[in-house]
Amino acid sequence: MRGDDLETGDYLLAPERIWSEYDGVPGGISLPAMCGELFSQQIFNWQEFAVAHMAMKGAWLRELTSGPHTLLVQFNQGRTISATAALGAETVSKRPCFLCVHHLPAAQKAVLYRKSFLILVNPFPIFSPHYTVVNVNHEPQELAGHLGALLALSHDLGPAFTVFYNGPRCGASAPDHHHFQVCPAGMIPAEKAWEAAGRDILPMDREGLSFGVLRLPGRISLVMEGSVPDALEAFLRRLIVTMGEVMGSAEEPMLNLICMQKDGKLRLLLFPRRKHRPEAYYREGEKSVLVTPGAVEMGGLLITIREEDFLKMTPVLAEEIYGDVSLPPELIEEIVRHVRRDRA
Ligand SMILES: [Zn+2]
Repeated sequence: MRGDDLETGDYLLAPERIWSEYDGVPGGISLPAMCGELFSQQIFNWQEFAVAHMAMKGAWLRELTSGPHTLLVQFNQGRTISATAALGAETVSKRPCFLCVHHLPAAQKAVLYRKSFLILVNPFPIFSPHYTVVNVNHEPQELAGHLGALLALSHDLGPAFTVFYNGPRCGASAPDHHHFQVCPAGMIPAEKAWEAAGRDILPMDREGLSFGVLRLPGRISLVMEGSVPDALEAFLRRLIVTMGEVMGSAEEPMLNLICMQKDGKLRLLLFPRRKHRPEAYYREGEKSVLVTPGAVEMGGLLITIREEDFLKMTPVLAEEIYGDVSLPPELIEEIVRHVRRDRA
């Protein structure tokens, strides 16, 4: 497993930022305990964060059902900057990177994770707690080079947390600085859909790795599960290459990824994408809906930043949004065929 890339990051020049350090030493303080302490420290010592966190705790939430599936809608004005960010290459290159250690708010502290990432409380939270796990180096948002780190992080955080990744054109508001995010397990509806949803998951090898699809309203997720991180990492790496071939993408294929630990196994939900924002985002007047789907939205929790969008969301509108931004089902089936044929 990777996750131990020991390049010199800027954090070395900012030791006052480091609240605690996690190196995975057996018998040491657990990562969830360290993150919990960081969260408490930040709530007590960083007033703007405490206010944003309290506002999020009071955010309106609606539950919509669509057959056996649950969709949640949250009204969260704190996410306005993230949901409407202009992400053109020129815009991004001209603004200061808000994930680089020297541009963090003065009161922000971090858990230094395996010398490779800074775990930060998200200053515009959707969850309680909600962490952003930021690479110590300013390098582009990208998954393939960090699969080992993702699986190691999910393993170290344990079954109480879920890790997610947004591709650079799939909901990440910092496409120029590599990062993951973390929320409490069970908050994203698709995590619970595994048992309820129509699914087609087959064992792929003798090490207990399985792969298939999970059908959800308006979208399909590629899913995989395994107890051997190295085997899962190799499989995922190959899957991303296959996706790129089928999707005709020279860059990283557009995707969102959700990773969790369940019954001693790592379980991943991957949403192949074709668009950053749905058509509804660009409509004028009453028909416009400002939703920018990332992993959280693809997982069934839609974040709205305007009251009118919060109130007008229906299962039908959500399915339209999912259909717009998801890779078409026939291409997903083709990816599955390729993967199964390669492994046969
Ligand atoms: Zn940066």
